[in-house]
Amino acid sequence: MADGAPLLDVSGLTRYFDVSKPWLNRVLEREQRQFLTAVADASFSIKRGETFALVGESGSGKSTIAKMIVGLLTPSAGEIRFDGQPLRFDQGRISRTLRRRFQMIFQDPFASLNPRWRVGDIIAEPIRTFGLASGPAVTAEARRLLDVVGLSATDINKFPHEFSGGQRQRIAIARALSSKPEFIVCDEPTSALDVSVQAQILNLMRDLQDEFGLTYLLISHDLSVVRHMANRIGVLYLGRLVEQADAKRLFTDPQHPYSRMLLDAVPDLALSGRRRQPVTGEIPNPIDPPPGCAFHPRCPHVMEVCRRELPAPRETATGAAACHLLTTA
Ligand code: SF4
Repeated sequence: MADGAPLLDVSGLTRYFDVSKPWLNRVLEREQRQFLTAVADASFSIKRGETFALVGESGSGKSTIAKMIVGLLTPSAGEIRFDGQPLRFDQGRISRTLRRRFQMIFQDPFASLNPRWRVGDIIAEPIRTFGLASGPAVTAEARRLLDVVGLSATDINKFPHEFSGGQRQRIAIARALSSKPEFIVCDEPTSALDVSVQAQILNLMRDLQDEFGLTYLLISHDLSVVRHMANRIGVLYLGRLVEQADAKRLFTDPQHPYSRMLLDAVPDLALSGRRRQPVTGEIPNPIDPPPGCAFHPRCPHVMEVCRRELPAPRETATGAAACHLLTTA
């Protein structure tokens, strides 16, 4: 469980992409180019031992945030602090010492494991890279990790194609654990798996969290997965965090109309005692987002002010939400 100390602090995190045609880049001044803002001014923190989930439709910026945190993308603005230290992006690479302490589990266990490497080498690579063991101790550690994730130590000489999807995700988890991380970014960890094995992998992740005191950032579009795993939730819409709340609170009393709409779209989670308002309309073009509150073209409660002014985040019972309804209520 969370012990109160924040392990990750994200402040004003922003990432935009230049989407002008490449040949035009050479001739256009900066102010004439076209930019897509994938993440705008995102701030949140994650306590040690907790699971913080980022949810939102495809294109909301969830994965862009995850990639910046693990150093696969450099932020355009803002700061990420890990255990009190700011992450410095030196040509897109984070310092080796910090890098060992956080890992990532990807969506597709078929694509994330090198098909030419034996399982033992896949798991051993971070152990060697970070100098955590040498000689026979590396193999012994790889065997131990296979056992920890519910596979057999005798699987060490097999290749990834000899395993099912769920078993491959267990191998990916063993590899992530091999650098003895404190923090793991889990990007849609079960969405490529059969429904029958999804719960097994989620339960394994929870057991490992308890055993090793891990902290998770969970990226998911699946609210059932999020309900099973998360302590706190951030809801993203078009690159902006529109609500943050304790998981229980968000599922019972969402404050932002977009959070309500997301929950209403899942029949099992639909809030009782009120009319459902399933997700309608399309997410707008992020290159040319609507002015004011970007959700206003889809919002059933839209007011005149919503079309003009971006709502500032307001404190709620367990977090914050950015909606003009909270200031006019
Ligand atoms: Fe809807 Fe206005 Fe709130 Fe945006 S600010 S979610 S448009 S009520």
